[in-house]
Amino acid sequence: MKALLLSEYKKLELAELPQPEPGADEVLVRVAACGICGSDVHGYDGTSGRRIPPIVMGHEAAGTIAKVGTAVSGFQVGDRVTFDSTVYCGQCDFCRRGEVNLCDYRQVVGVSCGDYRRAGAFAEYVVVPQRILYKLPDALSFPAAAMLEAVSVALHAVRLSELQGGETALVIGAGMIGLLTLQAARAGGASRVVVADIDATRLKLAKEMGADHTLQLSGAELVAEVMRLTENKGVDVALEAVGRNETVSVAIDSVRKGGTVTLIGNITPEVTLPLQKVVTRQLRLQGTAASAGEYQQAIELMMSGKIQVKPLITAVAPLSEGARWFERLYAHEPNLMKVVLAPSETAEAVR
Ligand SMILES: [Zn+2]
Ligand SMILES: [Zn+2]
Repeated sequence: MKALLLSEYKKLELAELPQPEPGADEVLVRVAACGICGSDVHGYDGTSGRRIPPIVMGHEAAGTIAKVGTAVSGFQVGDRVTFDSTVYCGQCDFCRRGEVNLCDYRQVVGVSCGDYRRAGAFAEYVVVPQRILYKLPDALSFPAAAMLEAVSVALHAVRLSELQGGETALVIGAGMIGLLTLQAARAGGASRVVVADIDATRLKLAKEMGADHTLQLSGAELVAEVMRLTENKGVDVALEAVGRNETVSVAIDSVRKGGTVTLIGNITPEVTLPLQKVVTRQLRLQGTAASAGEYQQAIELMMSGKIQVKPLITAVAPLSEGARWFERLYAHEPNLMKVVLAPSETAEAVR
């Protein structure tokens, strides 16, 4: 089969690899679409240490079942499916509680680190265990389905924020996850959503996707404007989708007393915590990681149109153009959102 192999750091090549065989509880998926994740781009040059070559990356995928293992039930050849990016064990204490994203034996599809190596979906075929599969409605296109992983991440962040309905929310960062979090917060009952970023193009998208206010501000100016919009109370919840000192600080300054700051972004490993502001104003700081069972809800919200992903897909390209797209993403070319590769399609079919 054809696969996009990271043969050494910053070197992707279209390679011919043996087609994998599914084990008893696994299926072989013919990959129709697989999104390039920010974590793939970060892994590509070795900085994250999570894509040690040689590795086929790719964990945001959808396709058709081509073969089922002997112990698989409920799925058959030809089923259109997507799968969780997390391969959880299903048996540890966390998995039993449904917190599969926190599984003690968690692996991620398309990741190779010191502990394990698991081939991903930038290939014509990928093998995954049945327990992480979800069936797709016929009306959901494969490139849209490749966005389900990111949508689930946004839904998980909003679920942990425990909205009751009618809240005001501030989303900081209008990248992929921020724009999906905006829509997830709206679907989750927030009555007013403010989105802040320093990039005008991204804010334009935020407006199209239902933001009530978009603020091209940062720091103290941003806090002041959020206060003005909320009669000096602050928002009920701030969803921080960047992860830098300044943005976390703005999130903390922008919530009301007793409010929640949900921390999604983690672009830097450490930030300064304004402890007294958090303690004396009784704020809740809530971390959120990946997703834990939100795929079905994500499928329903996309089918109903409450969550739109189409405007976030910059390009759908054949696998042969994957290396070039990685270079462009790595170079931080402006205005690139999600790039989806289509491994089992011909270049003509993709266009
Ligand atoms: Zn991802
Ligand atoms: Zn587990």
